[in-house]
Amino acid sequence: MRIRFFGTGTSHGVPVIGCRCPVCTSRDPRNKRNRTGVWLSDDGHSIALDVSVDFRQGALRHGMDRLDAALITHGHSDHIGGLDDLRIFAQVSGKATVLYGMPQTFAEIRERFAYAFAPPREYGGGTPQYDLRPADGPFSLPASGPSATGNWKVTPLPVLHGPEPILGYRVDDFAFITDVTEIPDSTIALLKGVKILALDCLRDKPHSTHLHFDKAVEYAQRIGAEKTYFIHMTHELEHVATEARLPPQIRLAYDGLELEI
Ligand SMILES: [Zn+2]
Ligand SMILES: [Zn+2]
Ligand SMILES: [Zn+2]
Repeated sequence: MRIRFFGTGTSHGVPVIGCRCPVCTSRDPRNKRNRTGVWLSDDGHSIALDVSVDFRQGALRHGMDRLDAALITHGHSDHIGGLDDLRIFAQVSGKATVLYGMPQTFAEIRERFAYAFAPPREYGGGTPQYDLRPADGPFSLPASGPSATGNWKVTPLPVLHGPEPILGYRVDDFAFITDVTEIPDSTIALLKGVKILALDCLRDKPHSTHLHFDKAVEYAQRIGAEKTYFIHMTHELEHVATEARLPPQIRLAYDGLELEI
């Protein structure tokens, strides 16, 4: 499985518009963070985890040419803002784009992208088409690409984003948990044996709807993945200085990071 980080930043992105802080003006490309999203692929699969407004840039940068499904964590703007850009895949394949998520997330998608669910018009450009499937338990994703690889097992991971229940996802031995304050014990049990974990780590100070540094480190150690990569970071976390405070099995993800398991 190839893992590509399309974006690793919080909802504003880094640099923040108008900000002149040392991170926003840094020359280190690892301090430039598009909105969070990951692409998982092998010769038979192509799966997006969340689809931000910066999805298009990631897809172009990494040469994505097909998409089997997108796994959506929740309906906040920085996680679904790029869904319109998925219409190219439906146009090329002739099939609606499969989205997995929670009913609440689908309600938000239907509201925000109402035109995609309206009767088709006979004029103008194409609208996106979505095939919404509830992620209410484990499911498998068969390979649909050029070569016959085995199924990927997907396990939705219930977590809390402040007061809101949302989902993370485990796909085989990779897990993606963004926008989280609390990971219940029952979900930690679902993470046994995970090799790579992408985990929310907003900033140093506590926050009402995200993990902050100390709590993210604590969860990373409890979950015990071989390697944890922090995501959804603000401009308060400088790449090199923050990594220096972390044990070797926890690193900061950065846009363009490529991993394999
Ligand atoms: Zn800044
Ligand atoms: Zn959110
Ligand atoms: Zn977010």
